[in-house]
Amino acid sequence: MKVETKCIHEGYKPQNGAPLALPIYQSTTYTYDSTEHIGKLFDLQADGHMYSRISNPTVAYVEEKIAALEGGVAAVCMTSGQTASFLSLFNILGVGDSFLCSSRIYGGTINLFSVTMKRMGIECIYFDDDMSDAEIEALIKSNTKAIFAESLANPALSVLDIRRIADLAHKHGMPLIVDNTFPTPILCRPLEHGADIVIHSTTKYMDGHAVQVGGVVVDGGSFDWAKNGYTCLSEPDESYHGVIYTESFGKAAYATKLRTQLIRDLGTYPPASAAFLLDLGLQSLAVRMEKHSSNALAAAKFLKQHDMIESVSYPGLEGDKYYDLAKKYLPNGSSGVVSLTIKGGKTNAVKFMDALKLAKNVVHVATVHTCVLHPASETHRQLTDEQLLAAGINPGMIRLSVGIENIDDIIEDLKNGLAQCE
Ligand SMILES: *Cc1c(COP(=O)(O)O)cnc(C)c1O
Repeated sequence: MKVETKCIHEGYKPQNGAPLALPIYQSTTYTYDSTEHIGKLFDLQADGHMYSRISNPTVAYVEEKIAALEGGVAAVCMTSGQTASFLSLFNILGVGDSFLCSSRIYGGTINLFSVTMKRMGIECIYFDDDMSDAEIEALIKSNTKAIFAESLANPALSVLDIRRIADLAHKHGMPLIVDNTFPTPILCRPLEHGADIVIHSTTKYMDGHAVQVGGVVVDGGSFDWAKNGYTCLSEPDESYHGVIYTESFGKAAYATKLRTQLIRDLGTYPPASAAFLLDLGLQSLAVRMEKHSSNALAAAKFLKQHDMIESVSYPGLEGDKYYDLAKKYLPNGSSGVVSLTIKGGKTNAVKFMDALKLAKNVVHVATVHTCVLHPASETHRQLTDEQLLAAGINPGMIRLSVGIENIDDIIEDLKNGLAQCE
């Protein structure tokens, strides 16, 4: 099956007489004929659902679909993208460990990595994508156990050279974890370029309609944990009568540990109803990503030639700093987010935002609706203009998340908004 077909037919496969739509299994628990069978479930020696804090059939179908879309061996859904970022690392790191992370990542992830995980005794060491291999390697310590980065960064809109960073990680015996939220597996599949683990905030394009917060971790099944000394996966887990994940679960060792140990203990599994909504979003993901990408490119081209625009960033736009990497990693489109800087700084940016009629002013991106966000007066409003510039945010910069409306209507709205600034 091609990826568009997988969006609809992977996961739940109804048999003769079964409902066509994915059923919502609204049940906390599952019945078995014998205590012996349940005992085997507890020892991870039999397949089956036991309790909906660990797995649920509706969620499991969606996990199967997402694993198939990314080309992984297994996926584990959870309650948010933040949880996915955290657990993807915490599954293999503990107190006293460190990991490398690209500095071009989502603001919420920076808080999690720099503040909360630091309190847990896990150190995040940032690198810049523009550094040479040698400069990045110089940051690696003896306790460094993973590299984390975003394939298409939010909000920087830089494109990660996945192959280069994956090679670098593997040279040092560690996995590369890629946050693939913005491209989705429709536009980029990091596992095909050497990444080992992929995570998503499904809240964004996968859901696509701004209805449900969620996250997922996908296990690529390619990393050799035992050989590289990840003893948490290759030595007995006492909480399961000494199971050894790499021996009992082979390629799905990482995903199995994540579910049966961390999801079990931390209680971050999503409800069946949330998975149902996510599945609806996934069914139309391929057509939406195509439309988001073509609309965003058209909007970026329109903005680029406009007198009131100081600069536009969109990796699919010829002349963009990341155009060549986008051609390699995002050949079918660069997703729907464009960043633009209006001449006249904050004053004009606010005038423009307030004049827009179609585009919604929200703290969100990646939905069917076109929406805008002005960091200087919203998410980063506590900073002075000097502080904003130091943080790499121009006071006139606006993040435009291009929806799937008719592009003529979107451009008309942008044109009217810009007319208020002159
Ligand atoms: C939104 C976002 C997250 C966090 O996801 P939530 O679902 O909001 O917890 C992580 N990474 C990226 C790239 C995001 O855009």
